[in-house]
Amino acid sequence: MKGIPIFMYHALEDAGHPAGSLDPGEQRYVLEVERFAAQLAFLKSEGFQSFLASDLESLTRVPERAVVLTFDDGHASNLTLTLPLLEKYGFRAEFFVTTDWIGAPRFLSRDGIRSLQAAGMGIGSHGASHAFLSQLKPADLERELRDSREILGDITGASIASLSAPGGRIGPEVAAAAVSLGYRTLFTSLPGLWSTGGSLHELPRLALRNNLDQATFERLALAEEGALRQVSRKEGLLASARKLLGERGYRLVRSVLLGGCLHG
Ligand SMILES: [Zn+2]
Repeated sequence: MKGIPIFMYHALEDAGHPAGSLDPGEQRYVLEVERFAAQLAFLKSEGFQSFLASDLESLTRVPERAVVLTFDDGHASNLTLTLPLLEKYGFRAEFFVTTDWIGAPRFLSRDGIRSLQAAGMGIGSHGASHAFLSQLKPADLERELRDSREILGDITGASIASLSAPGGRIGPEVAAAAVSLGYRTLFTSLPGLWSTGGSLHELPRLALRNNLDQATFERLALAEEGALRQVSRKEGLLASARKLLGERGYRLVRSVLLGGCLHG
């Protein structure tokens, strides 16, 4: 296999449990539970094995049919809707929690985080306030990285070593600060596959939006070039817009292309 697809999810919802996004644009990243179930059913039928962030540190070769499943933001649905399906299909996922949101309506509680951990899931940081890390002054950056890691370490009793960047970008300064504070695996939303020998400090991910059809998901899971190019082209457009227009202009263009979501 050419590399491992690392999928980036956010919240799931069903008729009885709406995700209730605060930001209307965020709804783009909310998947119906049936869609996620169909994706897991496919992965299982094809013999895929899931890996956690900590597994990537020790992989020496890319296994056939490998996948990493990640969830950003720390939504309550991680526990109520996602975990039962992961257990049903025999997969594990990495959950990145924004620590200021712990205990807020529709987000995970401290007990919820512990339940995910007890079920064998990975717990990582998604910052403290969800500020975009690459835009922060060094002192603020350090606080976001250190506070969120300490809070999650306190909740789980574990050493937190994985980080997913709000907004999806990790430049060299953020990476250096994160590594110096004890993080070892850093997840972005740059599209692509990860291969053994590739950097653990700029892990690419493939975003799962609610308009991604099952066929495209299957092609991405199987690391088909065409499907990867399709995803990369859209992200590439966004990256060029960011360069050309700066952050404000980028947000406008992104909201037009993606429907307003500023979350990574
Ligand atoms: Zn986020």
